[in-house]
Amino acid sequence: MPRQALELFIPGPTWLRPETRQAALLPEFGHRDSQAREVVSSIFDNLRAIAELPDDYDIALVNGSGSTGMECALRSLVADDDRLLCVTVGVFGALFHSMAIGNGKQVERLDFEPGCSIDLDVLEHTLRNGRFNVVTLTHNESSTGVVSDIVGACRLIRAHGALPIVDGVSLFGGDHSRIADALPAVYATTTQKCLALPAGQAILFVHRDALDKAAQVSNRGYTSDLLKHVEFGRDRQIMTTPDTTLLNQMQVQLDTIVHAEGVLQRFARHRAMRTTVRDWATARPDRFELFVADADASPSLTTVSIDPALDPAALKAAMRERGYLIDTGHKKLNDILGAQSRRLLIRIPHMGDIGPAMLGRYLDALDSESAALRR
Ligand SMILES: *Cc1c(COP(=O)(O)O)cnc(C)c1O
Repeated sequence: MPRQALELFIPGPTWLRPETRQAALLPEFGHRDSQAREVVSSIFDNLRAIAELPDDYDIALVNGSGSTGMECALRSLVADDDRLLCVTVGVFGALFHSMAIGNGKQVERLDFEPGCSIDLDVLEHTLRNGRFNVVTLTHNESSTGVVSDIVGACRLIRAHGALPIVDGVSLFGGDHSRIADALPAVYATTTQKCLALPAGQAILFVHRDALDKAAQVSNRGYTSDLLKHVEFGRDRQIMTTPDTTLLNQMQVQLDTIVHAEGVLQRFARHRAMRTTVRDWATARPDRFELFVADADASPSLTTVSIDPALDPAALKAAMRERGYLIDTGHKKLNDILGAQSRRLLIRIPHMGDIGPAMLGRYLDALDSESAALRR
């Protein structure tokens, strides 16, 4: 029996346009053939436009998901005797920390309260006292719906002689990457969030100085060796066999983003939907409360805390009946909030190819189902 088609309102994987699904039917190709170079060249050109990428950055595609790209950067830039700082404003900041532990790196954590962005004064104080070689940070924290000032943070990090690695997984394609101003050593992202593609490729933007650093780091691994990935990227190839179905979809979708919708229009659409969701939640104080202040609010997803009388599981079931898959919050974060007897969060994504009309229908359904459940 075919499974029910749900409209995905979760922060990745995101809903796919029919045209993106259709592109999966394009013919497969050989990954070392000239056709692969054509596809990868087109993908790189459009990624460069979406990233507003300076010339001294390389692009590498790495088979896997966002985490694969993040771990590749970490393993390749952090030597065993280096000091690494993981700046965390939520669960995904802590992911870098777990990777560092798993790879035996010497790591410290600088944690900020859930719902807050990076406090640059606190960061500066930590950098001044820590003598770190590498610092990781999250551009858009998907557990809390917070966007951080990566330009300010990366400038501080570089001023203190360290290399910044930025997780841009849930922002890239939805707003300015800010790479040109922030100058991260590596900016990592992936396909299944704001780019509205299936998962399967990590995308790395790599500054020249990351290559110099990686050359001095031993035990970078094989599939996690940034230098190899960049070498293949320069030849418009991917190091290990890619999913050519996904590459076909990437070629079509990135071309649509750059040449049909327009990059700036796409960014503006994400920001307009953020306003829509925030206004919607603010108008329903009986059930929803914004978790993040205006200044720190993510352009790609909005977190709201819900009335304790609302059971997230019941809401999810009711919305499924309406054809939607909703997000009932990041489990790790809700576990923390629950233990502190605080209200639980749900996340309302407005990323990728979700448009204002589709979002409006979703919010109407969420409104009526949440109202019905409280009665
Ligand atoms: C989704 C996400 C990740 C993990 O990406 P995967 O593609 O699932 O590996 C990392 N960081 C952020 C901010 C994310 O939203």
